[in-house]
Amino acid sequence: SPFPIRLSGPVQKGFGRGGKDLGCPTANLPDESLPPMSSVTKTGVYYGYAQVIPPRKDDDTLSRTDVEVLPMVMSLGWNPFYKNERLTAEIHIMHEFKSDFYGYLMKAVVLGYIRPELDYTSREALIDDIETDKRVALNCLQRPEYQKYTTDPHFS
Ligand code: ADP
Ligand code: MG
Repeated sequence: SPFPIRLSGPVQKGFGRGGKDLGCPTANLPDESLPPMSSVTKTGVYYGYAQVIPPRKDDDTLSRTDVEVLPMVMSLGWNPFYKNERLTAEIHIMHEFKSDFYGYLMKAVVLGYIRPELDYTSREALIDDIETDKRVALNCLQRPEYQKYTTDPHFS
C-alpha cells in the first residue's frame, strides 16, 4: 500500500469552481507539495486527516479547535489549466471553519482511495456524491488502525 502519504503546503487560491456554492469548499495544495502523490496518480477521491496551522500572532482568526487534526476528503485530478499535465489536489476538511484560511499551512495524511472521478449530469447528483464521499471517509476513519494517524509526527 502506498499509504500513508504525507502532504503539506500553504493553501492556494483556486479558480473558485463552485466549491463553496456546493457546500463543499476545497482548499488547494500547491504543486510543489504534490510529488508524494506520484506514487498513486489515480485520479479521484481520497480520504484521510488534515490540519490547518494559522500563522503566528494571528490566533484570533482561527479558534484553537481549528488546529485539530480533522477528517478530510481529497480530490486528485489533472488540471485543465495546465493542459492536464499537472496534478491538483483539493482538500475538503469536515469541520466548520470561522473564516477562510488562504495562505495558511495545511498538512495532510492521505490514508486511502474512495472512487474515481466521475462526470455528473446534474448538480444534485454531484452534491449527493460528495455527501456519500464524506460518509464513506468518516466510516473508513473509524477503523482503530487509523487512530494513530491523528497523532502522526507529521502534524504539529
Ligand atoms: P477556491 O477555488 O479558492 O479553492 P473554494 O470555494 O473551493 O475556493 O473555497 C476554498 C477555501 O475555503 C479554502 O482555501 C479555505 O480557505 C476555505 N474553507 C473554509 N472552510 C473549509 C473547509 N471546511 N475545507 C476546506 N476549505 C475551507
Ligand atoms: Mg477549491
